[in-house]
Amino acid sequence: MGVTPALEVLHRVFGYDEFRGEQAEIVEQVASGGDAVVLMPTGGGKSLCYQIPALLREGTGIVVSPLIALMQDQVDALTAVGVQAAFLNSSQDAAERERVERAYLDGQLDLLYVAPERLSSESTKRFLANGKVALFAIDEAHCVSQWGHDFRPDYLSLGDLVQRWPDVPRIALTATATDATHREITERLHLERAQHFVASFDRPNIQYRIVPKNEPRKQLLDFIRREGSGEAGIVYALSRNTVEKTAEFLKQNGVDAMPYHAGLDQVTRARTQARFLREDGVVIVATIAFGMGIDKPDVRFVAHIDLPKSVESYYQETGRAGRDGLPSVAWLAYGLQDVVQQRRMIEQSPGDLSHRLKLQKHLDSMLALCETVDCRRQNLLRYFGQDAEPCGNCDTCIEKPETWDGTIPAQKLLSTVVRLKRERNQEFGAGQIVDILRGKRTPRVEQFGHDQIATFGIGQDLSDQQWRGVVRQLLAADLLAARGEYGTLVITPASAEVLSGNRTVRMRNEPLRQASSGRSSSS
Ligand code: ADP
Ligand code: ZN
Repeated sequence: MGVTPALEVLHRVFGYDEFRGEQAEIVEQVASGGDAVVLMPTGGGKSLCYQIPALLREGTGIVVSPLIALMQDQVDALTAVGVQAAFLNSSQDAAERERVERAYLDGQLDLLYVAPERLSSESTKRFLANGKVALFAIDEAHCVSQWGHDFRPDYLSLGDLVQRWPDVPRIALTATATDATHREITERLHLERAQHFVASFDRPNIQYRIVPKNEPRKQLLDFIRREGSGEAGIVYALSRNTVEKTAEFLKQNGVDAMPYHAGLDQVTRARTQARFLREDGVVIVATIAFGMGIDKPDVRFVAHIDLPKSVESYYQETGRAGRDGLPSVAWLAYGLQDVVQQRRMIEQSPGDLSHRLKLQKHLDSMLALCETVDCRRQNLLRYFGQDAEPCGNCDTCIEKPETWDGTIPAQKLLSTVVRLKRERNQEFGAGQIVDILRGKRTPRVEQFGHDQIATFGIGQDLSDQQWRGVVRQLLAADLLAARGEYGTLVITPASAEVLSGNRTVRMRNEPLRQASSGRSSSS
């Protein structure tokens, strides 16, 4: 077969032998003037899908991207292979901006990256109309979805492009692929005539593992020593403080770890990132500020020591592991405190009720993934609307978790919560409730006379750890709620069904050797 113009550009400009997945079809669709909606996981190779058509078509490919910090990198990479690329964003001074605008109007640019807020302004559109647009590429297109985790109002106005440029092809790309997001992208960006390309979201080389969290730093260190020793990895935590402390702890224990968060100055961050990219075996401990656009193929593990806010975030972050296709691990330690903390953050988050409900829904899906006794990958892919068989390469497939009938413990716990409320008008956190159930006469139990509660001591058959697992699973299933700053436990409308015996509760067995969970049973 002859070499198509697209393939010729792939070879000559980018130096690759062949297209991956559906890249060839996507390039063909857009280069020939058609619209496309592309759902492809991170690392799948979305960029070429608009870069090559931009090179094949007359005029400049306009790329809308919300990641201003990455524009420079992308433009540098393109310039290095001889592509005429530039960007327009708020980080530039007037002279620089003018230089880019002139180059565009003179038809000297193959690709021009613009921030969405710029493209939503009338003056920018008028300016673009004075030159020749080859195509519009709308990257991170899920930002148009109000139900997504990354909504940007500026994206809504991108739907208007079709009116001004009815004959210019548009391609929307995202690595987020729930059915709802897909539909919203199509509708809001007016891509009714687009061809849709939905890649599999499976990352078969990533092994998913979720373990109960007890001593996160120690568990993490064990995990790294056991399986990630000398390998490049990313550890995600929620707060800067946790990031700092964890990086320090790892360093003291011989891991080449460095912290990364938005509170560090730019020079330090750039140096950290450069070390991670160029050297072997560097572990970055980071808030989610790290990773967008990081293209390091041999990241062998991604660890979370705090619960991600949504399945999308979890998928994106874990997706930074194993881009080279070699076996990699996504490891998450998750516990009761995560549920309490995230529910509290949602409760206190600004925004209206529907916004909080949305966050709630995201969290619930994430919790379902954590608590599932079925294949993690199946759960994950179903979330993205894709079917799969049990994978054999996740913790629940490798070692099927045992379940037990937790209805009676659930009733004991819920009725303790109810009694405290009814008899004393009190609310307490998980610690106190578990102490009451286990019949511990702690100073706090005596102070409040909680040894007089009828359920005092009726839960001695389970350990503290097991009780915390019960609380966590009830919270995750919305059969119990945590409120306020202290995460005090209260019942939910659904609790009544359990209390009345109309609903049974299956629970996951917590692995006995908590701190070393994740180790295979033979060790
Ligand atoms: P995405 O935007 O989907 O996350 P990128 O476009 O950044 O992915 O591509 C991920 C990596 O794969 C990059 O290093 C890119 O150069 C590489 N890549 C993309 N397409 C091909 C291909 N056809 N052959 C070889 N490498 C490719
Ligand atoms: Zn599995």
